Amino acid sequence: MEFMAKLRSGETDINSYRIKGTENIIRVGDCVLIRPSDARKPKYVACVEKFEKDNNNNVNVHVRWYYRPEEAFGGRRIFHGANELFLTDHYDVKSADVIEGKCVVHPFNDYTKIDNPGPKDFYCRFEYKVDTQVFTPDDVQVYCICEIPYNPDIFMVQCLRCRDRYHLACVGLTIEKAKAMNQYLCSDCFSKCKEEVGENNLNNFTDEEHNGNAKKPTQVPTELETSTQNSVTDIIKEPVMDSCTRMMNVLNNIDGLECGSTLWLEALQLLEDPVRREMFLAMKNDAARLAWIKLRCNIKDN
Ligand SMILES: [Zn+2]
Ligand SMILES: [Zn+2]
Repeated sequence: MEFMAKLRSGETDINSYRIKGTENIIRVGDCVLIRPSDARKPKYVACVEKFEKDNNNNVNVHVRWYYRPEEAFGGRRIFHGANELFLTDHYDVKSADVIEGKCVVHPFNDYTKIDNPGPKDFYCRFEYKVDTQVFTPDDVQVYCICEIPYNPDIFMVQCLRCRDRYHLACVGLTIEKAKAMNQYLCSDCFSKCKEEVGENNLNNFTDEEHNGNAKKPTQVPTELETSTQNSVTDIIKEPVMDSCTRMMNVLNNIDGLECGSTLWLEALQLLEDPVRREMFLAMKNDAARLAWIKLRCNIKDN
């Protein structure tokens, strides 16, 4: 750091460069915002490969460009987030004067965990070969009934059972409605759960009306207080510990099920599964719960 501090404005020690008139030091390997010649255009993003001085003592920067979707073959598509970039094989040498400042290009999974991405947070999940217009990987996981890759700018809800994620619009939900729910079952999973435990034992589940061919998710209300979180992405985080505590309270108070008995232990094992736990809690009464436990544990009533 002491060495860095000795750098005067605009100077370089080849591995780093201090932006003129600032205290900001850019190092090899950093991602940077680069001023476009047309100020109305969005800033370019590049990775710094190296710095060097030319014969006139001007500092040049060798960069590897990131492209925005608009700059690549096929243009911007619905699954591209606003801050999505492609790492290209396009290299360039520019005057270091055009560097505006540092930015961060996150791996995709890291980016999806950022609560409030700033204007200098980007992400990259594809590399792009400029000459051949080929993306790598050419295969990416798709979600929802519309089967498109994940766009982190669009809220999705996650099904408790199949773990697929759904766009609110694709399943006929509003943000307000989604916020009021703690957990989801998609239409397919709701049907499967219904077969497993019987509709009469699922009185806490509401079967949403189907609308055209859109598959609607099914609300699974719980006794939990409605989340005060503002982000819809928060509601896909399951309150696992809460449902375990509630399950234990219910389980320990079932008449005819002795705490610590073999059946009680088997029930505990059964209820480690979050979907079964939700169904168990949603059943009408303890008699139904006990019958279900016995059925699942293959115990016949005498
Ligand atoms: Zn969708
Ligand atoms: Zn599902």
